Amino acid sequence: MAGLAAAARARELGAEPFVLEKGDRPGGSMLLSSGVIWRYRSLEEFQAECPGGDPALQRLIVERLDEDLEWLESLGASVTEPGTGNARTIGARFDTLELTETLVRKANTVLFGHAIVPGTETGLEGPMVLATGGFSARLAGERGLLLRANRWSTGDGLDLALGRGAATAGDLDEFYGRAMPAPPAHIDEQDFVRLSQLYGRFAEVVAEEGDGRFEGEPSWSETDLVQAIARWPGSRAWYRVHEDKLRERVRDRTVAEMIDAARAAGGVVRQEPPFTSVLVEASVTQTLGGIRIDERARVVGAEELYAAGADVGGISTGGYSSGLAAALVFGRIAAEEALS
Ligand SMILES: Cc1cc2nc3c(=O)[nH]c(=O)nc-3n(C[C@H](O)[C@H](O)[C@H](O)COP(=O)(O)OP(=O)(O)OC[C@H]3O[C@@H](n4cnc5c(N)ncnc54)[C@H](O)[C@@H]3O)c2cc1C
Repeated sequence: MAGLAAAARARELGAEPFVLEKGDRPGGSMLLSSGVIWRYRSLEEFQAECPGGDPALQRLIVERLDEDLEWLESLGASVTEPGTGNARTIGARFDTLELTETLVRKANTVLFGHAIVPGTETGLEGPMVLATGGFSARLAGERGLLLRANRWSTGDGLDLALGRGAATAGDLDEFYGRAMPAPPAHIDEQDFVRLSQLYGRFAEVVAEEGDGRFEGEPSWSETDLVQAIARWPGSRAWYRVHEDKLRERVRDRTVAEMIDAARAAGGVVRQEPPFTSVLVEASVTQTLGGIRIDERARVVGAEELYAAGADVGGISTGGYSSGLAAALVFGRIAAEEALS
């Protein structure tokens, strides 16, 4: 998302950018996402939800996102759902395929199979914006967790920046993810959204092995719950749901529908009336720590280098905020600054 947004903005400003894309298709994790681009209503609410995040970066998202969403629409991307369905947030849902195609068309030159490789030159002249999507694939591999994101984001942007003296921000172990049915060990990427088990708030949550138990209410995004499960043996837990909770809704789905999806995918679901127990496994969608940038998307500690999107750390620290919003806002800022 961030790289395409930066390139589309740069071309609009008269530059001739190249997007180097490691993968064999455009759109990264954005293409796989629910496409809801959102912000908290105020900086104070952003700070309360993500207390470790840099308020200067958070403020830019609060202040700029509405205009940036209008910009996406002006390029030809259509809003498929106004609003987010969440009283805490403001934003809109986009069709991610249409959004990807729109940004690729505006960016104009995307070179597939061309990775940014840390320690080597790209052979291209001019400023560079790092937008490789963080290191979710590497973190999932190192910690033996399911990957619920594109498979190419292995931390190349972070490594390149560190090699040039960059500072980091946020906690490099912190990530945003979802509980997914267990097994299967592998979930097709087009099922990442559909199979998410997002009803920990209505369940008793205990580790599959050992005596782990999640005490209290998880946060609304359940990011804290998923991180707790990721620390338990096998990174698995049982969600034990009372029948009274099966009709509760989370966004557009009931708890019963999410459980049905887990069962249909081959997940372990046990009936123990009046409870239904579902075996879930923690997955990694996005790393939250990464490169430190300033308010102009310049990489702190490195010369002539910009970063945007999940390569940037320290925005959502201690909580959860829209990764698409951060990618859009700082992708645009990076392009504007690199050309100023
Ligand atoms: C299932 C799912 C649902 C989600 N739902 C939402 C949602 O509703 N709202 C929201 O805000 N966020 C959501 N997200 C998160 C959102 O997709 C990310 O925050 C966002 O895509 C981050 O943008 P990015 O540009 O940093 O990374 P990406 O969009 O992943 O783009 C990074 C790109 O860099 C490429 N790349 C990696 N390494 C290199 C390299 N060395 N050289 C060249 N290219 C490289 C990758 O192939 C990829 O194309 C969701 C994610 C998933 C997976």
